[in-house]
Amino acid sequence: MSTVIDGRKTAAEVVEKVKALTSDLAAKGFSAPGLGVVPGLAVVPGLAVVIVGEDPASQVYVANKSRTAKECGFHSVQHTLAADTGEADLLKLIGELNADPAIHGILVQLPLPGHIDSGKVIQAIAPEKDVDGFTYVNVGKLGAGESTTAFVPCTPAGSMLLIERVRGRDLSGLNAVVIGRSNIVGKPMANLLLAANCTVTVAHSRTKDLAALARTADILVAAVGRPEMVKGDWVKPGATVIDVGINRIPAPEKGEGKTRLVGDVDYAQAAEVAGAITPVPGGVGPMTIAMLMANTVVSACLAAGLARPEF
Ligand code: NAD
Repeated sequence: MSTVIDGRKTAAEVVEKVKALTSDLAAKGFSAPGLGVVPGLAVVPGLAVVIVGEDPASQVYVANKSRTAKECGFHSVQHTLAADTGEADLLKLIGELNADPAIHGILVQLPLPGHIDSGKVIQAIAPEKDVDGFTYVNVGKLGAGESTTAFVPCTPAGSMLLIERVRGRDLSGLNAVVIGRSNIVGKPMANLLLAANCTVTVAHSRTKDLAALARTADILVAAVGRPEMVKGDWVKPGATVIDVGINRIPAPEKGEGKTRLVGDVDYAQAAEVAGAITPVPGGVGPMTIAMLMANTVVSACLAAGLARPEF
């Protein structure tokens, strides 16, 4: 049987570190160029979450993010805009948040309603407040191997921390296969693994003989959105398996109309073969919000002229 990688525990450790850094920031005060540290001028990390419309899943995500931000001691603001809000109004709000010194992180919850150009809105976020890591500046830095100065998207950043817990920071000599090539998970995940010296293959919907390719992986990351697609015989014995997928499937065994969450990996089968594996729920999921908090406190430290903390 494999080791279960406990995402809730690691996420709680990240949140504890964020809390400690937040109280540190309040104690240290603001360090302005030329002025040095100005005691008494406390810095409180500020996170603004913007949601447009009433998608129930998005509402849950946003509520969780705002709650964790408060728990961390952040200044947490939520802008809930009507589903028919125009693109220009949303861009105006982003402009105001970019200019607000009390805000260090801006998150626009996706998906946005169809009449709004999501790309345009995301790219309007100031890169130094882009705690989701989706602006071209941050994407470019990560692609150029500058992952220590970029804001890295939260889900792959969290997945990477889980891999580090099992395999350490230097993954030299290991083969990694990432299934999925999205901008939010697959591509940044591949770049992070490359930065950690893995030999990386990115697989996707057009990949041939995916099972055989997956079996070459010492580190297998599934970010597809297909329930339990990765079977036990896709997994190399001893591999580290990171299941990013979150899929809700019917669970008639729990009662009529009930559902349950599963990943992209057939957990019961894969756990027989893997060396270590993330469960769903309780694996990558909790890490995403924790890394959002981490990115926001990093942004606040940088804005205050302090060194960038590491996670
Ligand atoms: P996406 O739909 O943007 O990308 C899916 C990728 O999977 C695509 O690149 C596609 O080429 C590939 N794919 C589709 N079918 C395939 C197949 N049959 N074989 C191989 N590859 C295939 O999805 P995403 O945003 O990257 O999310 C992927 C999964 O991760 C979803 O289940 C999503 O809910 C989950 N997710 C979880 C978190 C978290 O916090 N844990 C965050 C983001 C996404």
